[in-house]
This record gives sequence, C-alpha cells and structure tokens, in this order.
Amino acid sequence: MNASVSLKDKKTAFDSLFLHQGEEGMSAFGQGLEQVGHKLKEVYAETDRPFTGKSHSAIEKEIGKIMNFPRRGISLEEVLDEMEGPILRNSLHVSHPKSMAHLHCPPLLPGIIGESIIGTLNQSMDSWDQSPAATYVEEGMVRWLTGRVRYPETSDGVFTSGGTQSNYMGLLLARDYFCQTHWGHDVQKQGLPRAFTRLRILCSEDAHFTVKKSASQLGLGEQAVITVKTDEHHRMSVKDLEAALSKLGEENLLPFALVSTCGTTDFGSIDPLHDIAAVAEEYGLWLHVDAAFGGGLLLSHSHRWKLDGLEQADSITVDFHKLFYQPVSCGAFLVKNRQNFGFLSHHADYLNPLKDEDEGIVNLVTKSTSTTRRFDALKLFLSLKTIGTDTFGDMIDHTVELARYAASYIDGADNLSLKNNQPEINTIIFRYEPQSTHEFDLDELNRAIQQTLLHEGRGVIAKTTVEGMTYLKLTLLNPRTGTEEIRELMTEIEKTATQLMNGGLASV
Ligand SMILES: *Cc1c(COP(=O)(O)O)cnc(C)c1O
Repeated sequence: MNASVSLKDKKTAFDSLFLHQGEEGMSAFGQGLEQVGHKLKEVYAETDRPFTGKSHSAIEKEIGKIMNFPRRGISLEEVLDEMEGPILRNSLHVSHPKSMAHLHCPPLLPGIIGESIIGTLNQSMDSWDQSPAATYVEEGMVRWLTGRVRYPETSDGVFTSGGTQSNYMGLLLARDYFCQTHWGHDVQKQGLPRAFTRLRILCSEDAHFTVKKSASQLGLGEQAVITVKTDEHHRMSVKDLEAALSKLGEENLLPFALVSTCGTTDFGSIDPLHDIAAVAEEYGLWLHVDAAFGGGLLLSHSHRWKLDGLEQADSITVDFHKLFYQPVSCGAFLVKNRQNFGFLSHHADYLNPLKDEDEGIVNLVTKSTSTTRRFDALKLFLSLKTIGTDTFGDMIDHTVELARYAASYIDGADNLSLKNNQPEINTIIFRYEPQSTHEFDLDELNRAIQQTLLHEGRGVIAKTTVEGMTYLKLTLLNPRTGTEEIRELMTEIEKTATQLMNGGLASV
C-alpha cells in the first residue's frame, strides 16, 4: 500500500484486503478461496510421491530465494505461482498413502474446510464477548468427549494446542492440588513450597518425553520424574510401579502424580488402566492419562474396550490432530473434577471479571494456560457432523486391521524381523535382517534404508531405537492406505536393502 494515501482515501485503498459487505471485499474473498483451491488441486493432481526427496539444503535455498517482500504487493495468483515449487511441492504430502512415518495424519476434508471458516470468523476463545457462539460449541464438544470417556457430570475440559500443552496442564493441576491438600500451600500465589525437591512424578519408560519437559517447566526439574519399567508389550509394569513407590516411601520422597500412557508413541501400547488406577487410589496419586494417540479408539467399534478404565483418570490428554484426522493443531485436556481448574484461573478485569461468573457468563480463559485461543472445536464439530461417528469408527478400525495385516506380512517375510507381533493400535516396528548374511551393520543398513526411501521419495517411514538397536517404524494412520501399499513398500525396502548391500554400504 502506498504510505501517502490520505485518510480520506484509506477506505477504498484497503477495500480488497478485508472481508466486508462491499463488492470488493466479497469478490476478493471468493476469488482468493477459488484461486487457492485451484492451485492446491493442481499440485495434488501431480503429486505421485509423498515427498520430492530433495535435500534439506536444496529446500532451504529455494525458500531463501522467495523470502523478500515488495514495497507494493503483487497479486495472490502471482504469489501462488512463486510459492508453488519451493513451498507447495517441497512439502511433505501427509495425505499420500505412503506417508506413514509419524503420528501426523492426513487431514479430513471437513477439517480443512473448517479451517477456512475458523480463519474467516477469527473468534478468540478466551472471553465470551470474543466468541459468543464458539464458546458454546467448544463447551459442547468437550461435553461430547467427556461423554465418550464416560466421565461423571463433575468433569470438564478445554481445547489445547496438543498433547504437550495437555500433559503440562495435567501435571500443573496435579502439583498444585497436592500442595494445596497436603500442605495447605497455594502454589499459584506463593510459588513452590520449601519441600518441592521431594516431589515426584511416575511414568513408564515408554511415556512421552513431554512428561519430563513438563516437570522441568513446573520448576521440579527432570529429576522429579521416576521412570517405571515396561513389560514385554511395552506397557507399564504394575509390579515395578509398586516397587518404585515403596522405594520412594523409604526415601521419604513425595510421589504426587502418576502418568499412564494410552498409546505410546512407538508401540502404541496401552498401560493396564484398571490396575494402575487402583495403585493411584491406594497411594493417593493424581492419575493423568496421556491418551494423545490412543484417544482415537474412543470412536472405534472393535477396540473401544482397550480404553476401559480411562474414566478413572483425574485428567486426560486427547489429541485430535492424530487419530481424529484434524489439521494441526487440535487437542483437548479433560479433568474429572472441574473445580481443579481453579488452580489455573486468574481473574483479569478486562477479560473475565468475577462479576461475569455471577451472571453465568462463560469465559474459557479461566480453564486454560493460554489466553487468545483458536476455535479448533469447529473443525471437529464439522467432521463429526458430516462424517458421522460410525464412519469415524470404521476408519480407525481399518487402520488397526491394516496394521495387523502388515505385522503378519512382515512376520512371514524371510528378511524382515517384526518387533511387535500384536499391534495394539496401528504402529509397526520392524527391521530388515537378511537371513543369508551377517556381514553388515544392521543398524547402519536400516538407517540407510529409511534415508534412501525418503530421498528418493518412494516412501516416508520412520526409524526408532529399541533396546539400543535401530528399527523401522510405520504409523498407519491413513484409512486410505491398503494392503497393496504395504506390499509395495515392503518390496521397495527389500530392493533398497539389496542395492545398499551390493553397492558401497560399509561392511562390518
Ligand atoms: C503426540 C504425543 C504427545 C505430544 O502431543 P503434541 O500434540 O505433539 O503436542 C504427547 N504424548 C503422546 C503419547 C503423543 O503421542
């Protein structure tokens, strides 16, 4: 825009930049959506691989070239053309059936369309006067979710940016609840109590790293996290949990929270919820269940039972940008007793004065560690409405079936070795292990297989370390991925391994 426009002219100068009832605003809005839709369709139509395979430095260079901003704007169409190569085509195509590395889902179309509504309405979820309808949509979606969890009437929740924030909130409430009930100490007002160095959090060795990260952010340090061993299926060992608790007792330490995982990142394992809840009860621990991944089973027809006992948790993490197929970001934090949100609430005169509460006005900032917050609940609302909960369940069940198929295929292959025989959800851990020869460093070989597939754009799979060894990992979130893609991928892996062994890969 020309900086010298007079105040009088400004109205027209900016007219095509905002949505408004005038002709320019309307047509710019419609045209923009159309152009973007057209460009994305064009790119997708030509996307036959999940990733171009270019190196990070090549992509960095391409992006560098377009990072300059004109004094006078250029048309959206031109910018879309300019970014097509560097940004659109160089992106990871998460909707491709062979994109199966991480807990990173193909987004549902109603979720994507929901994003455009969210951006257009631009509601802010902190105070009712900034989200007069959205507040009740979010509250309604939370109630829907607490119903699915079979939580009592006292329960409540709030949308979050994802599992990291939800886990942090769970441990924050747990810490402050303990300090309040144990010492009558108000952490919110007084800071950490003197004996804070004795506070301990327990979780399994397969729990998400954000448990430790939260402990450090909560001022307790990573030293406060005690990791409990897992069994052969990578579920928390209740025996080891009890042993750890009795040891903490002898050491005069103060365990206050127990984090159980429903769907570990690598194996998708689900801790034995009933047994763990019983231990939490016996020792008076706050039970936080990290169901960021496994929460998707809430809609499953065949695997919902795996979450039985979830309702005993004091707080729960659920991610919608994983097994609920929503665009990033979208998550929720639930608590069994809504009064515990009191440990977070701060009354700001301009946002959520106490007087509002007296009048029954809901200001969601009271329940969140964030202030300005996105109307993410809408995309989940739109997805559930247009798809229906039955189809949602079918999608999730398909991915679990596919994981079982992949597991049995790998189990039957001569040169592949399977790590998890019975995938609990939809991740598969395996590695290439040639029967014939052992002259290769298998860690190196498997790492090279994963890298080669990525750099040739033939398949995006992950690698991980289990018991000190390198494994390959599939996260089969995409319900459009079928048995054929699994067979093709395995053939690619075998082919790549042979090429690597024949050419150049260092022998041991
Ligand atoms: C993904 C994940 C997280 C972190 O969630 P974000 O949404 O990435 O912040 C935490 N715990 C588990 C088990 C997860 O799978």
